[in-house]
Amino acid sequence: MSAEILDGRALAKEIRATLKNDVAALRARAGISPTLAVLRIGDDDASAGYARAIQKTCDGVGVDFREVDMPFAAQQGEVEEVLNELNTAPEVHGIMILEPVPDHISHAALIDMLNPAKDVDGVHPINAGRLQADRPPYFVPATPAGGIRLLEKAGVAFKGKEAVIVGRSDIVGKPMAMLLLHRHCTVTLCHSRTVDLPAVCRRADILCLAIGRAEMVKPDWVKPGAIVVDFGTTYTDDGLKGDCDQAGVAEVAGMLTPVPGGTGPVTNVMLMENLLRAAERAASA
Ligand code: NDP
Repeated sequence: MSAEILDGRALAKEIRATLKNDVAALRARAGISPTLAVLRIGDDDASAGYARAIQKTCDGVGVDFREVDMPFAAQQGEVEEVLNELNTAPEVHGIMILEPVPDHISHAALIDMLNPAKDVDGVHPINAGRLQADRPPYFVPATPAGGIRLLEKAGVAFKGKEAVIVGRSDIVGKPMAMLLLHRHCTVTLCHSRTVDLPAVCRRADILCLAIGRAEMVKPDWVKPGAIVVDFGTTYTDDGLKGDCDQAGVAEVAGMLTPVPGGTGPVTNVMLMENLLRAAERAASA
C-alpha cells in the first residue's frame, strides 16, 4: 500500500486565502485590525526565529504583528507589568509568550495571568479546561487544531475509530486527545512510561505522534491502512525529520502527514484563525 499524503502546504494556502478575506472584511466592517503581540524575554535564537516566522505568517494574512522584547535580566515583576499592559490594551487581540524564558522567570505564572480572551495559543488553564469540557468559547492550541483540520479535509470519519496519541504535552498531545475524544474516537494517550508502545500503536486507526524523536516509530508499529499524523519536527544532520520513518510508514499507512509539509504549515494558519476569532469577539463585545 502507498499512503495518501495529506498536503499541509496546499491546505494552509487555502485557509490563508479565506483568512485574508475575513481579516479585510473585519477591518472594513468594524475598523479593527487584528493584532498579535509576542512577548520575548532574553535573546534566545530559537525564539527569535519563531518570532520572525510568526511575523511572516501575520504579514501573509494582513494582520498586525507587535514584538515586545525584554532583556534577559528583566525580573518577574517587570515582565508581569508589561504582560498586564498587553492584557488590557484594546488594540491587542492576541498574546503569545515565547519560550524559552530565562530560568529566573516563572513561565507558568505568566501563563496564569494571561487574559484568556487573548490567549490565542490556547495555553491558559481556562482555555484548556473549556476544551476538556468542550464548553465554548475556547482557543485550541494551533498544532492539534491543524492536525484535525488536515484529517477533516481528507474526509476522515472519526466516530468509533481507535485513536492512539504518543506524547502528552499541553500544547500537542493532550489537546489532540481531547479533540479526538470530542469527535467520538476511542482515545489512548501514550508517553515515555507506556509499556509496549509498538503494540499500543498497532491498535490505532488514527496514530498521532508528538514525541520529538526523529524516526522513532517504525513501519511495523503501524496497522495497515491506518491514518498517521506526524507532528514531530527534529532537525538532524540529514534535515528535518518527523517522529516516524516516513518512507517506510508510507508503505503501510492509508494516510500520512509528511514532514516537512504536513502539520507544520497548517499550525501557523490555525494561530491566525484564533487571532481573527479573538478580534471578532472583541468587536462584538
Ligand atoms: P514535549 O517534549 O513537550 O513532549 C514530548 C512527549 O513525548 C512527552 O509526553 C514524552 O513523554 C513523550 N516521549 C518522549 N520520549 C518518548 C518515548 N521514547 N516513548 C514514548 N513517549 C515519549 O514535546 P511537544 O509536545 O512540545 O512536541 C512534540 C513534537 O512536536 C516535537 O518534535 C515538536 O518539535 C513538534 N511540534 C510540532 C509542531 C508543528 O507545528 N507541527 C508544533 C509544536 C511542536 P513524558 O510526558 O512521559 O515525558
